Amino acid sequence: MKANFEDLKGKKILVTGATRGIGRSIVESLAEQGAHVVFNFREGKESVAEEMKGHLEKLGASMATAVMFDVTNTEQIKTALDAFAKEHGVIEGLVNNAGISRDQLVLRMKEEDVEATLNTNLKGAIMVSQVLSRGFLRAENASVVNISSIVGLMGNAGQIAYAASKAGMIGLTKSLAKELGAKNVRCNAICPGFIDTDMTDALKEETKEGYLSGIPMKRFGTTQEVANLVNFLLSNASSYITGETIKIDGGLYI
Ligand code: NAD
Repeated sequence: MKANFEDLKGKKILVTGATRGIGRSIVESLAEQGAHVVFNFREGKESVAEEMKGHLEKLGASMATAVMFDVTNTEQIKTALDAFAKEHGVIEGLVNNAGISRDQLVLRMKEEDVEATLNTNLKGAIMVSQVLSRGFLRAENASVVNISSIVGLMGNAGQIAYAASKAGMIGLTKSLAKELGAKNVRCNAICPGFIDTDMTDALKEETKEGYLSGIPMKRFGTTQEVANLVNFLLSNASSYITGETIKIDGGLYI
């Protein structure tokens, strides 16, 4: 089911890591709401970005603008987002979605993988939020949604750096909500459990069964279900919710 939020029409919303998976579904869903979708891609994916622009406009985006940066490169973030602001004005919504996981048990963990995970998932989200914060103060109803993970709350063997980065995003969420709440800038985190993506498709049948047995609803979530929650938090339909962490996991955490 798709939920509609009228006030997202024309709203300028940036989604990081938007070329596939959950991020792609979020930008498609925002396009259907008629938002001005600002979608992030990394160098080398120009042809995908070009194809996505047309696709998002066909879906109903009032406009679709591609912004090229790597979330681990603060100079690139600033250059791309300053250029966007000059041409189109202030970004009013942000979804910190870009993320990686490099899973290893503690004894085998490599420092470079820990650094890459923390830099992408946590520092990246902090820096993009910082670069946009001045603009948020001038927006009418700015909203930030951080895509954390259920493992940021539960922990998970083999995912120390990933879980730490996702737990860190919850600290970022609460702090930004406290700092900017008086200016009507909201910030919330969502914690997806297992969501049907290329990643879960690639799992062996028995591994999938193992995961499913721990989920009361006995199925993985869909990217559309995640997008519905993100849209709700971006929209003024959630106008008195800030600093919150919402699980979307079919009951896995219970
Ligand atoms: P994915 O790997 O399909 O997509 C991640 C996106 O982030 C890609 O477009 C990738 O290019 C981009 N990205 C990675 N590093 C980047 C960087 N340095 N700069 C800019 N972009 C970068 O993953 P997904 O499953 O769609 O996950 C999206 C988000 O949701 C991630 O933050 C992930 O941790 C989180 N999440 C996913 C699940 C799940 O079940 N799939 C569960 C919980 C949380």
